[in-house]
Amino acid sequence: MTTQQKIPAHSPVVRDLIAALGDKVSTAPEILDSRAHDRSYHSWEPPLAAVQVSSTADVSAALRICHQHRTPVVPRGSGTGLEGGANTTAGSICLDVSGMNQVLRVAADDLYATVEAGVMKSELNEALIEHQLQFAAGPGIDASVGGMTATSASGTTAVHYGTLKENVLALTVVLADGSVVKTGSTTKKSSSGYDLTHLFVGSEGTLGVITEVTLSLHPIPETARMGVWSLPSLQQAVDLVVKALRSSLRLTRVELLDRVTVDALAKYTGYTAPVTETLMVEFVGGPSEVEDQYSRFAALAEAYDAAEHASTTDPEEAAHLWQARHDALPAALALIPGSASLTTDVCVPISKLPECILATKEDLSTTGLIAPIVGHVGDGNFHLAILLPPGDEEAQQKAHQLNARLLDRALAVGGTCTGEHGVGLGKVSAMAKEHASAIATMRTIKTSLDPHGILNAGKILAPGGG
Ligand SMILES: Cc1cc2nc3c(=O)[nH]c(=O)nc-3n(C[C@H](O)[C@H](O)[C@H](O)COP(=O)(O)OP(=O)(O)OC[C@H]3O[C@@H](n4cnc5c(N)ncnc54)[C@H](O)[C@@H]3O)c2cc1C
Repeated sequence: MTTQQKIPAHSPVVRDLIAALGDKVSTAPEILDSRAHDRSYHSWEPPLAAVQVSSTADVSAALRICHQHRTPVVPRGSGTGLEGGANTTAGSICLDVSGMNQVLRVAADDLYATVEAGVMKSELNEALIEHQLQFAAGPGIDASVGGMTATSASGTTAVHYGTLKENVLALTVVLADGSVVKTGSTTKKSSSGYDLTHLFVGSEGTLGVITEVTLSLHPIPETARMGVWSLPSLQQAVDLVVKALRSSLRLTRVELLDRVTVDALAKYTGYTAPVTETLMVEFVGGPSEVEDQYSRFAALAEAYDAAEHASTTDPEEAAHLWQARHDALPAALALIPGSASLTTDVCVPISKLPECILATKEDLSTTGLIAPIVGHVGDGNFHLAILLPPGDEEAQQKAHQLNARLLDRALAVGGTCTGEHGVGLGKVSAMAKEHASAIATMRTIKTSLDPHGILNAGKILAPGGG
């Protein structure tokens, strides 16, 4: 066999990609496997090739070729998604933007930064330290700015700083045919034309590939006080948060951990808070302002039978206390060694949160499944980590059924199927229920921007209808 015969024959689209982008195109099986999936339980197939782009021009060249060949393209940031949004299908191309990692501009006095889409949240915040600024929105886990923008991500700070939607000012996006569009502006407000920026935020790579993002920045606060509070019941925990928000207390973070999560943390890390419903809260600002806010919260908390477990203004101690919140998922998974998690993500009007969580717990108790619950309670968003023991198909089926009932319950009280993780593969049918009257308009937008349906096909909208 000659050397030439040993080289695998590439499909025409891969040959054209290699001709245009050279060694940025990989077909090595180990690279394809590593770029084929996110952190979810959803299935995937390796793509034909993975293209590691390093500029908007690369993305444009790759999309032009895929558009000509009608080849599906799956954009990928850092692959931390929980709904299969970055999962590839057989015959597709993975467009990996993680190499686009330049912070292009920090406009400190105008409180914005422009970055390439592959910049990680931690890298941006590192670059902002010298300006005494921070990018405060987004998940606790590190993720790419492009991926966060594409999923309209948020996390513990959304109650104060908002989600990516409230923090993205402008974008550079490459459309399915390779053309480049710049949307938005660097101003805080604009009434100029259709809001294309926010059409692309949350579009999960189905309308275009984001290559540059201009984000709002915030000053690093002078002081922060965090506190951990134990409550006798979920109802009291949520009622306390509603009361605090209605009393104009400016909570920067308010997180709920149910007693199952606290118990899991005690087993996993030796966490010492009482095993009961728990709120973690934080206030930021000047020292006297923070003390005033925290003592007003403490006074309210007494009325809801809450007991303070810990409180600090020391940044290291606070980071240690917050770590428990970040350990919630690994601690849950450790309850069943080798398990995966079907992580739910409904968001409901806050006043409906207790009834929605309690009805879900009641439902859960009939299934035999284990599912610790955490919630961004100030936004009405909560997650069950439904544990899927390895190889247990019956548990998987029950978990999907439980999630389907939870989605219906959330929609019935005016909620949404996903507060922050996105639709991906997992919420396609729930989307159709949630937006019945708007799905046709969404499909019209998709078809007009991506007539051959090459961009992240099968994500958000069901292929071909529905
Ligand atoms: C332990 C854990 C905790 C998490 N906590 C949170 C949380 O608190 N809040 C939260 O919101 N999420 C959370 N997530 C989910 C995940 O981190 C977010 O969805 C994140 O925004 C995904 O970013 P990414 O760069 O990893 O995107 P990827 O997973 O790579 O992609 C996500 C989606 O965006 C698309 N995409 C990626 N980059 C681009 C681009 N440049 N242009 C167009 N489309 C693109 C992909 O096609 C895919 O549809 C968590 C995940 C884990 C594993």
